[in-house]
Amino acid sequence: MEAVSVIGAGVAGLSAAIEMARQGYRVRVYEQALLKYSAATRSAGIVVTIMRGSLLRYALDSVRLYESLDPGLVRRVEALWISEDRDCMERVVGEHRSLGLRSRLLDGPPSWLSARPSESYAVIETFIVDAGRVLPLLLQKAERLGVEVVEEAVSGVPGRYRTGGERLEGIVVVAAGPWTPSLVPSLRSELVVYKCQAASVEGARPPMPVEDDALDYYIVPVSPSRSNIGDGPNPLLDDPLDGYATDMEAVYDVLERYAERNPSAWEARVIQAWAAPCAVGREGLPIVKAIRRDTIVFAGFNGAGLTLAPGMAKLLPGLLRGFTPPSLPAPRRPPKTRGVLEPYDVC
Ligand SMILES: Cc1cc2nc3c(=O)[nH]c(=O)nc-3n(C[C@H](O)[C@H](O)[C@H](O)COP(=O)(O)OP(=O)(O)OC[C@H]3O[C@@H](n4cnc5c(N)ncnc54)[C@H](O)[C@@H]3O)c2cc1C
Repeated sequence: MEAVSVIGAGVAGLSAAIEMARQGYRVRVYEQALLKYSAATRSAGIVVTIMRGSLLRYALDSVRLYESLDPGLVRRVEALWISEDRDCMERVVGEHRSLGLRSRLLDGPPSWLSARPSESYAVIETFIVDAGRVLPLLLQKAERLGVEVVEEAVSGVPGRYRTGGERLEGIVVVAAGPWTPSLVPSLRSELVVYKCQAASVEGARPPMPVEDDALDYYIVPVSPSRSNIGDGPNPLLDDPLDGYATDMEAVYDVLERYAERNPSAWEARVIQAWAAPCAVGREGLPIVKAIRRDTIVFAGFNGAGLTLAPGMAKLLPGLLRGFTPPSLPAPRRPPKTRGVLEPYDVC
């Protein structure tokens, strides 16, 4: 059995390990601190469906994997999408329908929301996963498939990875999220590392999740009184460890933007805020590629790793056989020299 070593046990590394084990490889995952640094447990748990069709297919594959882990892990919900680009919205809703999602354009804003001129609205079918359970369930699944998970940090560069005194065996999949550039120095200028942040707030709960591209925030109701709210300035990071410090000013800034829609949010109370480092390719897309015959990079999932990593892991066995994955959609906006583009910057 050919050996595969995966660096990182976040959602990307574990998804990669599961896929490679299913394909008959003998897989060992190396993680510097199990369930400690991964961004998935801090995520909002949205399987984002506001994506171009070519990416949306991977998101739907991820949902299938989550449902196979535990049917109760995923909730199918309707979310309100606000955008200033009606044409784009029509295109995305059309793609949803062709893939069997029950999304629809609205003629005007819902009554519970304060609208602004030149905006369009759609109800989008989307999925919410219980973010706290994703990694433990992926770990269980991997172990059931015979994957060995060891708590050790890996150092080195492509072709010369080692842990302690030992060299990593076989093919290496680098799935180290924001730490990837330290293991693949050639990606230093290709991978943008930044802070992702969210907060739990009490009060001003919307009747459904809202993705507001006009004012740049999302809010997801999680209990009868509480919601998780996020998006924000995404400051760039030199050291991934700086990504865990929360910035309360940014939290209140996001909440203020939401208050333009729902004035009761001025009275909302922040219960907790949390943050983690995220990484993304300069063009707003993940980096899924073979950099040598024996080394694959599977990183840069941005604010959408829960959405894309399990589905995109299916590309890995093909990459090892020299297969080039179908090209991902080009960004609609030019890549930034600094700052972050998102894979779901669709409009
Ligand atoms: C606040 C917030 C909200 C989010 N909301 C969503 C959302 O709603 N929907 C969505 O799809 N995504 C969301 N995300 C993004 C998602 O969480 C990430 O894209 C995803 O978790 C990234 O997974 P990863 O495995 O690529 O990286 P990571 O989770 O960073 O995992 C990398 C792992 O590699 C390990 N590692 C690094 N270097 C080494 C080494 N040298 N040796 C051994 N191990 C190493 C690290 O310890 C870490 O565990 C959110 C993220 C945050 C922070």
